[in-house]
Amino acid sequence: MKSLNTTPQHRARARVWWWLPLCVALLLAAMGWGGARIYQEREQRYHHQIEGGLQAVNLLQLRAVTDWRARRMAEAAALTQDSLFAQAVARWRGARAPGSEAAVRERLRILMEQVRYSAAYLVDPQGRLLLTADGAASGFLPAPEHQALQQALAQAEPAVVELRRDPAFAYTFYGLMAPLYDGTRPLGAVWLVVDARTTLFPLLETWPNHSRTAESVLLRRHGDEAQSLSPLRLRGDEQAALRVPLAPQGRDPMALAATGVRGAFYAHDYRGQEVLAVASAVPDSPWLLVSKVDVGDAFTDAQRREWLGLSLLVSLGLLLLGLAVLLWQWRAWRRERALKRELERNLRWLDNAQKVAAVGYFTYDSRRESFVMSRMASAIFGLPDDGRMTLRQWMGLLHPDESVRTLQVHGQAMMERTPLQTQYRIRRMSDRQERWVEVWGEYSQASPAEPLLMTGTVQDITERKRTEQQLARYRAALEAQVRLDPLTQVANRLALHEAVTQEWSRAGREGTALALVMIDVDHFKAYNDHYGHVAGDQCLQQVAAALSALLGRAGDLLARYGGEEFAVLLPGADAAAAMAVALRLQDAARLLALPHRASACCDIVTLSMGVTSLRPATHIDAEAAQTLFQQADAALYTAKHTGRNRVVLYGADCMAALHPAPLVPITTTEAHDL
Ligand code: GH3
Ligand code: MG
Ligand code: MG
Repeated sequence: MKSLNTTPQHRARARVWWWLPLCVALLLAAMGWGGARIYQEREQRYHHQIEGGLQAVNLLQLRAVTDWRARRMAEAAALTQDSLFAQAVARWRGARAPGSEAAVRERLRILMEQVRYSAAYLVDPQGRLLLTADGAASGFLPAPEHQALQQALAQAEPAVVELRRDPAFAYTFYGLMAPLYDGTRPLGAVWLVVDARTTLFPLLETWPNHSRTAESVLLRRHGDEAQSLSPLRLRGDEQAALRVPLAPQGRDPMALAATGVRGAFYAHDYRGQEVLAVASAVPDSPWLLVSKVDVGDAFTDAQRREWLGLSLLVSLGLLLLGLAVLLWQWRAWRRERALKRELERNLRWLDNAQKVAAVGYFTYDSRRESFVMSRMASAIFGLPDDGRMTLRQWMGLLHPDESVRTLQVHGQAMMERTPLQTQYRIRRMSDRQERWVEVWGEYSQASPAEPLLMTGTVQDITERKRTEQQLARYRAALEAQVRLDPLTQVANRLALHEAVTQEWSRAGREGTALALVMIDVDHFKAYNDHYGHVAGDQCLQQVAAALSALLGRAGDLLARYGGEEFAVLLPGADAAAAMAVALRLQDAARLLALPHRASACCDIVTLSMGVTSLRPATHIDAEAAQTLFQQADAALYTAKHTGRNRVVLYGADCMAALHPAPLVPITTTEAHDL
């Protein structure tokens, strides 16, 4: 049978495909490593981009705030230098003229409406409120503004009151004090109040992109803490200022900015969130601007994009891996299918071969004491379909005449681990029919711990056995035929020789005598000539029957020696006994009284006989049996030459007959005369 999967090609192919998953794994690892490197680089680049973006936003807002402050200062300075307005104020203050008051109020109204101040007061040099756009005002400047007034009048230029809250206004405001002079005489000042909510804070809310956590805050250092000036977007509480202590290990971006940190940095804000922050100082002011965004928020998009790229890469790798596995599986499946087909074909061949040869195979497990049979073997034993049989069942199938021998043979093969070859009869389980089976088997054991197994074949040889038995019968019959003379139905010359050889040996072994009587029908040629050949045959048959009837002793053998000659073998007979038998034979022939008119010696058929008896020595071999024939022949020869119709015992006077030429006259021991 062809080997299914152990050819060198198969092995080489298996080796090649074993490397494939490894290659794919290496490829995936390389892709993973490359992807991680790319991811790291891109992440760094994104960090730089986002930091740069935040710095740009911070810078823009810083410029906007700076511009805003500069504009406010410029407006205040323009007011200080507005001489017409100063004259109008001087006139109104000197004369309290209604016309000049209207001019002053108009100017204040323009400031509020066009330059978007939320309030504008005319104050005297002592800080007393004089006039608004709506009319006369009363009261005094709050302390910070009063201080600013003094500073402005002293320096003759506008002074700033930084962002602050005061019960006078419901919002955070920014104040400017623009001094007014009538020549060199101080007239007072205009207190300009800016609502930070509508003019300053919106500058901090502009962001180039939408972000849930981005915010900028204006703050300033106040003693040992950083204090927010603008509302915090993520705090909810718009009004309350946030105060953050300047702790040495503090990581709050406001505190860090207040302690002098500038540029981009990572920190944890008032919510405890990790933020990317950029801090800068607003020029010519105590203000600091911090722009910040949650790290998670800032990098979400970038991370999402990176993850997308990475997952695409991984998906591609997995796809490749899947394809490789699929290909591998497909090839394995194809190989398996080919093997299965080959196996099925081989099994079919085996089945057919079993059917044709009527050979089944089986395995016997000595530990379980059970057989597993092939389909054919099951059919041979007449088992049900499952092909299993216990030892006890098998023993029950053995023919009673065979069981002891069969069990012995099996037991011996098992003990000696020799190949088993035996034939035995069973009574088939299915129909109890008697069958002959031939079993070839061999015991094997993988290791001492493993059970002893016998694997073998079983063949139904019933038909062969029948044929053999029939042949044996034919052979026996044939052999009998071969040793039988067809005319007279007595033993032939072959049978006589075999018997002489056998009996000669036995006589030699046992030290007994062996006698031979040679018989010849007298003038038989003449009988044939006279009565015809058919009558001659009948004569021979009658003589043979008469002689045979006389020989009753077991072991005595009458044979037709040839033509009209007969011989009688008498085991155990000495000369006297042999002579007695010979004489009785002669009598039997005479009693037949077959007429023979052509005979020269008598008118009935007569017989001449030569008798001899020997006691073979043990050392004499089978060849020496010829002596028996020679002596009997010599005696017969003598009988013929001394007148026929007589019995002559071999003696010294017969010696010449052993050497027929030259023939010398001899005296015969005449035993019986007719
Ligand atoms: P003797 O007394 O010297 O024996 O003379 P004989 O004529 O008997 O001897 P011989 O040897 O001259 O002749 C034997 C004859 O026996 C010759 C043959 O025709 C005859 N014979 C041999 N076998 C058969 C046989 O099977 N049937 C018949 N009818 N005749 C046979
Ligand atoms: Mg003869
Ligand atoms: Mg004769």
